[in-house]
Amino acid sequence: MITKNLNISADLCKGCGTCEGVCPHGAVKLLYMAEDGRYLPFIDKDQCIQCGLCLQSCPAWPSDPEGVPFKSIKSTTAQDLLGPFQNTYSGFSNNRQLRRTSSSGGLATAVLLYALRTEQIDTALVVKLNEDNPFGEPQLVLAKTETEIVSAIGSKYLPVPLNRIIKQIITREDIQRIAIVGLPCHIEGIRKARHHLKKLDKKIAFTIGLFCRQTKNLGFTKLLLSRLKVDPSDLQSFSYRGGGWPGYVTAKMNDGNMSKCLFFDEGFLLLWLLQSFAPKACMFCCDPTAEYADISVADAWIEEFANDKEGVSLIVARTNEGESILNNALRDSVISTQSIDPEKVVGSQIKRAILRKKINYRTKVTALKPSDHKILKTIFNQKVDIRGMIHLKQMESFRKITSSNLFVTAFQKIPSAFFNKIKKKAQKRKALSSRVK
Ligand SMILES: Cc1cc2nc3c(=O)[nH]c(=O)nc-3n(C[C@H](O)[C@H](O)[C@H](O)COP(=O)(O)OP(=O)(O)OC[C@H]3O[C@@H](n4cnc5c(N)ncnc54)[C@H](O)[C@@H]3O)c2cc1C
Ligand code: SF4
Ligand code: SF4
Ligand code: SF4
Repeated sequence: MITKNLNISADLCKGCGTCEGVCPHGAVKLLYMAEDGRYLPFIDKDQCIQCGLCLQSCPAWPSDPEGVPFKSIKSTTAQDLLGPFQNTYSGFSNNRQLRRTSSSGGLATAVLLYALRTEQIDTALVVKLNEDNPFGEPQLVLAKTETEIVSAIGSKYLPVPLNRIIKQIITREDIQRIAIVGLPCHIEGIRKARHHLKKLDKKIAFTIGLFCRQTKNLGFTKLLLSRLKVDPSDLQSFSYRGGGWPGYVTAKMNDGNMSKCLFFDEGFLLLWLLQSFAPKACMFCCDPTAEYADISVADAWIEEFANDKEGVSLIVARTNEGESILNNALRDSVISTQSIDPEKVVGSQIKRAILRKKINYRTKVTALKPSDHKILKTIFNQKVDIRGMIHLKQMESFRKITSSNLFVTAFQKIPSAFFNKIKKKAQKRKALSSRVK
C-alpha cells in the first residue's frame, strides 16, 4: 500500500496496478517477481511530485473502513453481504460453445461481445494467459474484436496487474467507450481513479466484477501441474477452467499430448479452502463480491445447478447501466437470465467467508504490524474487533503452512485415491455437496 509518505507495504499491496496507471509522471513502476508471479510497486522519488493520486486511487485503502460489523451469520442479510444491488439473476450465454469454454456460464464474455456488436463499446479490457509461456506475465488485452474478447475467456488464478493500463485507456484516441472486467480490487481501483480522472470516467461504459475470495500466486499453478505429472518446460498451453462446469484444468504439451483433471479433483478444493498460495493482501481484502462494479458475476455453487454441466453464472445487477445492458442482451436473445433470490446468491459462496471478508478493514490491518497501526490510528481512530482479528490470525497460519515447501512436498506425494475419498465424504454432507459434484 502506498502510505501518506509514499512508502509501500508489500503485505497490503494487491498488485492491481492502479498506482502505475494513474501516476501522471510515470514515477510508479510495478516490478514482476518471476519466482511467484507477484507484482510490487516502486516509486522513483526523483520523478514524484507528491500529488497523492496514487494513494487516493489505491484499493488497499478502503472506501468503507467500517465494513459490516462482526454480526452473527444469522443476523446478516443478503444486502449486508452483497452490497448495493438492484436485482439478482442466474444466467448464461446462449452460445453453447462460449458457455462450455467459459468459467461458469460465459455471462461476462457474452455481455462484452454484445456490447461490442451493438457499438455500445469500442474496446473491452480483458486478460489472457501469456501465449508464449503460461508461467510468464499475463497479457492485458484492450480488445477491439470479438476474437480478442473470446481469446480471454475463463478465470486466471494468478496475479494480474490489470489497472496499469489506465494510462493507455486515457491517452489512446481509438478508445472512446470501454467495458472493463476485473476482480473486486481492480474494480475498486478503477472506481477511485475515475473519480479523480474525468477523461477516464467519460470513457468507461460499464464494469463487470468477478466474485473473489482470493487469487493465487504461481506456486498454485506449479502444484496443479505436478499433480497432473506435467513438466512445465514441456507445456505448450494451459487453462484453469473450461470444458463444461465446473470445468477442467487442462495442460497441452509440446508433443500434442494432453493432461487434464476436473477442477475439483487432486485436492485442489483443499487448496482453495485453506487459502494456500493466496497473496497475503487477499487476507486483508474486504470486497468479496465486487461491490463497485455495474454487474458482478459468480460461479453457481448451489444445489439447484449442481447437475448442470453446461455452466451457470450468478449475476448481481448493481446499477442502471448494469441492469440496462443485461436487459438488452436478454431481449436480443444473447443471454438467458432468471431472477434468483439474493439469499441464494450469498448461499452459493461460503457465507461465513464472505462475512469475515467484509468485517472492517481496520481490524484486519491492525492484525498486521505496529507500523500500520499508527497510520490507521491517525486515520480512523477507532477500536478493533477481537473476533475478527483472531480469525484473521487463524487464516494467516493456514495460508502460511499450506504454502510452505514442506507442505508442497507432502502434497505432491498424496495418492489421488485419498482426495477421491475426501470428495466422496464431502458429497455426503449437504452443505458441501453442490461445491464438489
Ligand atoms: C482469481 C479469481 C477468484 C475467483 N473467486 C471466486 C469465488 O470465490 N467465488 C465465485 O463464485 N467466483 C469466483 N470467481 C469468478 C468465477 O471464477 C468466474 O470468473 C465468474 O463466475 C465469471 O464467469 P463467466 O463464465 O461469466 O466468465 P467468462 O465468460 O469465462 O469470462 C471471464 C472474464 O474474466 C476475466 N478474468 C479472468 N481472470 C481474471 C483475473 N485474474 N483478473 C482479471 N480479470 C480476469 C477475463 O478477461 C474474462 O473476460 C473468481 C475468479 C477469479 C479470476
Ligand atoms: S494501487 Fe494497487 S498496486 Fe498500487 S499500491 Fe495500491 S494495491 Fe498496490
Ligand atoms: S504522488 Fe503523484 S507523482 Fe508521486 S508517485 Fe503518486 S501519483 Fe505519481
Ligand atoms: S481477494 Fe481477490 S479482490 Fe481481494 S485482493 Fe485478493 S485478488 Fe483482489
